[in-house]
Amino acid sequence: MSNCAIVGINWGDEGKGRMVDLLTERYDYVIRYQGGGNAGHTVVNEYGKFALHLLPSGIFRKGVMNILGNGVALDLENLYQEMQTVIAQGVAITPENLRISDRASLLLPWHRELDGLEEARLADKKFGSTKQGIAPFYSDKYQKKTILAGELFYPEHLKEHLKDLLDWKNLTLTGVYGAEPAKLENLIAWFDKYGEFFKPFVCDTGKLLKKASKEGKSILFEAQLGSLRDLDYGIHPYTTSSNAIAAYAPVGSGLPSAKIDKVVGVVKAYSTCVGEGPFVCEWFGEEAEKLREAGGEYGAKTGRPRRVGPIDIVATRYGVECQGATDIALTKMDVMSYMDRIPICAHYELNGEIIDDFPFPAALYDCKPVIEYMDGWKCDISGARKWEDLPVNAQKYVEYVEKAIGCRIRYVSVGPERDAYIERV
Ligand code: GDP
Repeated sequence: MSNCAIVGINWGDEGKGRMVDLLTERYDYVIRYQGGGNAGHTVVNEYGKFALHLLPSGIFRKGVMNILGNGVALDLENLYQEMQTVIAQGVAITPENLRISDRASLLLPWHRELDGLEEARLADKKFGSTKQGIAPFYSDKYQKKTILAGELFYPEHLKEHLKDLLDWKNLTLTGVYGAEPAKLENLIAWFDKYGEFFKPFVCDTGKLLKKASKEGKSILFEAQLGSLRDLDYGIHPYTTSSNAIAAYAPVGSGLPSAKIDKVVGVVKAYSTCVGEGPFVCEWFGEEAEKLREAGGEYGAKTGRPRRVGPIDIVATRYGVECQGATDIALTKMDVMSYMDRIPICAHYELNGEIIDDFPFPAALYDCKPVIEYMDGWKCDISGARKWEDLPVNAQKYVEYVEKAIGCRIRYVSVGPERDAYIERV
């Protein structure tokens, strides 16, 4: 059995969904192990174009079992909508190809509400939350104040548990934020609709995975967001509220003893960042607008314009180290074809010194990018399928990045379509 994790190396939106969709062919199980519906993986395949938020990207492959592990923020309401959209485009989703861990905690309507209330309280100091309830959800999870999906099978116990949580949560809703209290009957109606619908999908996925592992099946772990958004290793406090790095995959998947043989780190050929926080290599004005347009850099979930800039070698090398990446997929190379010269943020300058190690988050505000340039290739590379098809300047760029970040670039993606890539052997 060979297991693989596909993870983001930077700020997210690197094209992980596209790589998982491509590589699922080689795996039996695809597992989302953290995060919720707060980010979107865009996948383009024979069924159409999809923005997946919670569904594992293996959902399009016949014979692949997809799992939402115990580490995810299980937002049944969003998942329900997402499933309806995907099913409407001709993809079958049943317990035959989707299972949900009975140990996954449920993201409840009050988590989303609390996210909105807190962002409103922060006003101009807001973090740029997607308001999907992720931070309140994970806070509650670590306080052990959540409902587990498996409780759907214990209705009496569930009702008592809900009542207790409701009393506790209303102290915050009314006392801290002056909002309306949540009502038990609304919650029960919510469970009647979504809980009942999802019951057939919920099971002990740990058991399922143990069996799969014994049978020599292979597993693909799918991350949401990138290293720089990891709760512990990212740019605190502009991180997400869970661990996005590969090391967390066994814990959040339901198979804590899993060995990961291969970690494919996805790096975009330039940088993008959604939300607030320091972003050293950021471009502004016309050149930013041009890159944003060329790359279609608008959030899959929110439609927000993404902040953009050249590739950041310092942050990327750090991201590669955090992930323990064994292979890199460099995506969106085709987007840079319009550039006369290719910019690279090769180092940072901090207090007059050149640095190559990613600094403590608070120091990032004082870092300036040190930009170097390579010659552009100035031609359409979206049809390239072999290394030799790439113009020499594009090859040189790949080789430069590979050397600078210290990890083999195995895949070069030149378009969003499933087959628009080059695999280097
Ligand atoms: P994810 O969250 O990491 O999966 O990334 P997103 O889905 O947010 O963003 C990646 C976007 O780039 C999607 O719209 C993809 O269809 C698109 N994409 C992925 N790889 C390529 C590529 O090599 N070239 C181009 N032009 N688009 C790509």
